[in-house]
Amino acid sequence: MEVRFFGVRGSIAVSGSRIGGNTACVEVTSQGHRLILDAGTGIRALGEHMMKEGPPQKATMFFSHLHWDHVQGFPFFTPAYLASTELTMYGPGANGGQALESVLSKQMEPPHFPVPLSILRSKMTFGSALHGKTIETGPFRVTPIDVPHPQGCLAYRIEADGHSFVYATDVELARDQLTPDVGRLLEGADALCLDAQYTPDEYSGKIGIPKKGWGHSTMVDAAQVAKAVDAKRLLLFHHDPAHNDDLVENMAEEARNHFFATEPAREGKRILFGAAANA
Ligand SMILES: [Zn+2]
Ligand SMILES: [Zn+2]
Repeated sequence: MEVRFFGVRGSIAVSGSRIGGNTACVEVTSQGHRLILDAGTGIRALGEHMMKEGPPQKATMFFSHLHWDHVQGFPFFTPAYLASTELTMYGPGANGGQALESVLSKQMEPPHFPVPLSILRSKMTFGSALHGKTIETGPFRVTPIDVPHPQGCLAYRIEADGHSFVYATDVELARDQLTPDVGRLLEGADALCLDAQYTPDEYSGKIGIPKKGWGHSTMVDAAQVAKAVDAKRLLLFHHDPAHNDDLVENMAEEARNHFFATEPAREGKRILFGAAANA
């Protein structure tokens, strides 16, 4: 299994960041199969990467939720325009497939976009990802769990080749508030990608407007959670658009006081698991 980050920013894309300015999009591959987590602006570059591999292309896409920073890149995902591409797309919750199709369609309606969703020639199949219901696809076992976020959000545990990767973006977590479901989802993950949008001072309102209830965690909470669930490594994710690279690096440095194997998720970064890690 291999994970590659194409978008690591939260809320809205920014320019001029070495760590990464594109919003959420993560690719997971194993044995020639491809998963795509979220379709923030980072999916444009993933599309370019797939076009270099050449058609036909096949991918299974899982959406954490439908906030704009997780869907906005889809109209710029070139493989979706090709008849040779097959996309199986899971939206969150009951009727998640329908809701996902509707959101992707609406963001391409006039006056927002020049061409409609129906112009995309790829074969798109929509399904629903439900809390606690594992979906098996290719070598992957994908388990979604509801996490605390306004209007809801799913975190995903992805297992393949004896390894585990957890994608938990857009979640307001603290180590003393972990429910058994969420705790089990995160438990012992080989790599844990966790929302860490705010500093504790931003979260509490010591700096700026208080952010409690906005659905995001601090890097200290993320690190304490990673330690509590015995994760092997932590990737801080959903960087705030107002944070420059130095601040994101400093946040990771501070988080390392709580959980040593912490780093910021970076655009372009690859994580190799198991035997592939030694290649
Ligand atoms: Zn978000
Ligand atoms: Zn959100």
